[in-house]
Amino acid sequence: MNRTGTTPALEHTFADLPERFYQALAPTPVAAPQAIRVNDDLARRLGLDPDWLNSAAGTEWLAGNTVATASRPLAAAYAGHQFGGFNPQLGDGRAILLGELRDAQGRLFDLQLKGAGPTRWSRGGDGRSPLGPVLREYLVSEAMAALGVPTSRALAAVSSGETVMRDRPLPGAILARVASSHLRIGSVEYFSARKDTEALQLLVDYALQRHFPAQADTDNPALALLNAVLQAQAQLVSQWQLLGFIHGVMNTDNMLLCGETIDYGPCAFMDAFNPDTVFSSIDHAGRYAYRNQPGIAHWNLASLAQALVPVLHRDPEQAVALAQAAVDTFSDHFLAAHTEGLNAKLGLTGQQADDAQLIEQLYALMAEEATDFTLTFRRLADLAHPEPGNPQDIGDLYTLPPAFDAWLAQWQSRLAREPGDPRARQAAMYRANPVFIPRNHSVEAVLTAATDHGDYAPFHTLVERLARPGQWDPGDRHLAMPPEAGQRVHQTFCGT
Ligand code: AMP
Ligand code: MG
Repeated sequence: MNRTGTTPALEHTFADLPERFYQALAPTPVAAPQAIRVNDDLARRLGLDPDWLNSAAGTEWLAGNTVATASRPLAAAYAGHQFGGFNPQLGDGRAILLGELRDAQGRLFDLQLKGAGPTRWSRGGDGRSPLGPVLREYLVSEAMAALGVPTSRALAAVSSGETVMRDRPLPGAILARVASSHLRIGSVEYFSARKDTEALQLLVDYALQRHFPAQADTDNPALALLNAVLQAQAQLVSQWQLLGFIHGVMNTDNMLLCGETIDYGPCAFMDAFNPDTVFSSIDHAGRYAYRNQPGIAHWNLASLAQALVPVLHRDPEQAVALAQAAVDTFSDHFLAAHTEGLNAKLGLTGQQADDAQLIEQLYALMAEEATDFTLTFRRLADLAHPEPGNPQDIGDLYTLPPAFDAWLAQWQSRLAREPGDPRARQAAMYRANPVFIPRNHSVEAVLTAATDHGDYAPFHTLVERLARPGQWDPGDRHLAMPPEAGQRVHQTFCGT
């Protein structure tokens, strides 16, 4: 725990890398910062004193207005494939890495301020962020963490007391973001595109040590990193699919090497099941639609593999062969993770002969009947062991249409062949099938209340509700309900 009353001490392992990895730069101070919310639990886990963070001095620090003398803030360089096209020169355009914090287990976490002012990579942007996107990222990233999905975290949201100009003047804000690191596939692509093999090797060694130390004892660090990232991303995207989460902007600069979800710009959870769902206002071709996410992750990992070719092997032909062989394992990793997750959602301990068909039929029914993705699975948990008076039962909130009856009978007879206690199975299904997710229309309502009326109460209520996504509470019924026709949100905006 940092000493009370002092600015927290940070580590600077990334700043120790050569200067061409970043621009040394302090945040641009803001006029009148005010804390909106501090994540006390996360603060404690990172050895920070929540009382100090909630003080006026803590707010100034979280806004980037005070930087300790020995600190080495920076904006990181990276590149990226955006919607399929390569941009060799991206980099943090509005985020400053203050440094790193260590948790009680000795793991290192980046602390980054998003909206902290312009950098070398701002490309004419103001380096700021409107309030809405900051609150969205806080809400959704913390909900994802509560759902057990690897993700960047929100340490705090602070309003800046400044106005930012978008299509209209909007209140400005800063998000204090925490991640295992902000190293992206695009970070590797940056040095690869410059043919800077020395930096590439340094980056590989750094990322492997930091994120996959168990794999670091190897004579081919680049291959070990590629395989580890591949498996982490396969696992991550399978979790997205199992929750109906649509990232919306799966560019390679938005995919972290550590396998955590990052960049909650145009993301959204699907309501009615439709595999072609797209929310992002800038994704006209549906490249990042729900059904395409695993394929895009695969494509992104192929970009990573290609960028690593110069350090995979001295002989280019062998390097390409190693890269290809590694990338070819993605589908198997994804399928294994996805199947395991689906089994948990459906109450199965393993797959039997006809299970694949049973699952296919379920998804076909969900699509035909446009049932709510989240509540369909949640309702299955009720039906796995129907019992009068079950306090978790959502029958008053949501039931499945009659078209499901035949399928349900088949699935229930399949469950009867499962070993184990039905009550324990149901409890496990409740854990795998949340009832509260950040519904798009609820998120929009919260952002509007804060942005247009300065009312943060709905934001706090929703954050707190989403911290226990599996726990049904009829009192919060309105936060579990799918949108009605007039409430449906069709597009989300990056809010840049
Ligand atoms: P994103 O779509 O959030 O992944 O951002 C793509 C790139 O644009 C990143 O390099 C961002 O840092 C940069 N960027 C986004 N918004 C701004 C802004 N308001 N000012 C400066 N740079 C920005
Ligand atoms: Mg980004």
